[in-house]
Amino acid sequence: NQKIAILCSGGDVSGMNPALKRFVEYAYARNLQPYFVRNGYEGLIDNHIVPADYHDVAGIITRGGTKIGSARSLRFKEASYRAVAAENLRSHGIDRLIVLGGDGSFRGMERFYHETGIAFCGIPSTIDNDINGTDYCLGVDTALGVIKDAIDQIRDTASSFHRAFVIETMGRDCGYLTLISAITSGAELCLIPELPVDIDDFKGCFQSQIAKGRDYFIAVVSEALDSKKVAEWFEKELGFESRVSVLGHIQRGGNPSVYDRLMAFKFVTYAIDALLEGKNHSIICYNKSHFNFKTIDEVALHPYRLDEELLNLAREQFLPTRCQM
Ligand code: ADP
Repeated sequence: NQKIAILCSGGDVSGMNPALKRFVEYAYARNLQPYFVRNGYEGLIDNHIVPADYHDVAGIITRGGTKIGSARSLRFKEASYRAVAAENLRSHGIDRLIVLGGDGSFRGMERFYHETGIAFCGIPSTIDNDINGTDYCLGVDTALGVIKDAIDQIRDTASSFHRAFVIETMGRDCGYLTLISAITSGAELCLIPELPVDIDDFKGCFQSQIAKGRDYFIAVVSEALDSKKVAEWFEKELGFESRVSVLGHIQRGGNPSVYDRLMAFKFVTYAIDALLEGKNHSIICYNKSHFNFKTIDEVALHPYRLDEELLNLAREQFLPTRCQM
């Protein structure tokens, strides 16, 4: 039997476990022996590479995180350790690998491929949705659901206590999670790196809203910005008692959404098919409802940018000039 392995690298996301389940089932269906690599590239170097069976993935579809562990690996950045990793894979007879991770992980794999000839297919997996070249990364939908629930619950308190709540969301420099969450939870204020505004320009509008009876505010702010300063602004400029709520790592976990389960299923199916068809170093992307394969340069050379349609929504909803008095 030909062999194929899977690993998770970088931040975990909900959707990795459903992907592992599909991986084992579809590998067997295609007459391949599936292997798990534990803890990302660390496991490649330390030879934590084990055959996978149906019972390993029984019952994991409902769980966030990843059963086989994930890691960042400083050692994998060194050629000598990558050579060890290749030796380990070869000792098991494995020459194909599926990698769930971000663009850093794919860049590492691309080097590995050129050095060793071991083929890989990358599946974009990060809740930040900040990988250039794909509209969707595994885990984003579940994270958005977690944030929605959190903001809905915070709103209950905000409205009862007449406070301003400043909710800080993940995404590094990318405002995707923040913007979608702000729109879909009906926030009054959304601050993202892609749409710089002067918060003082909201003062008149918010004062007029208060005069008409508004007695709480929800602001959603990217982690790249200063949420504490925003809370202080509400206190100082509007006289509103305010609180910061940093959602943090709860955003990464949780029961995978239906959409992430389905996307995991599809990503893995395409990845295995691609490797069997001889695509040796590609990343599966999802654009305008279609899957396609891209090179590392198409995916990782340019930084991610929010698409124009989303930015227009952001401008329409969250520029001070559009604030509804
Ligand atoms: P992400 O995949 O989410 O972008 P990182 O950038 O942290 O996360 O990369 C994950 C891992 O990929 C790193 O810990 C490292 O082992 C490997 N990696 C990243 N860039 C390179 C590189 N240029 N060469 C070799 N390995 C790399």
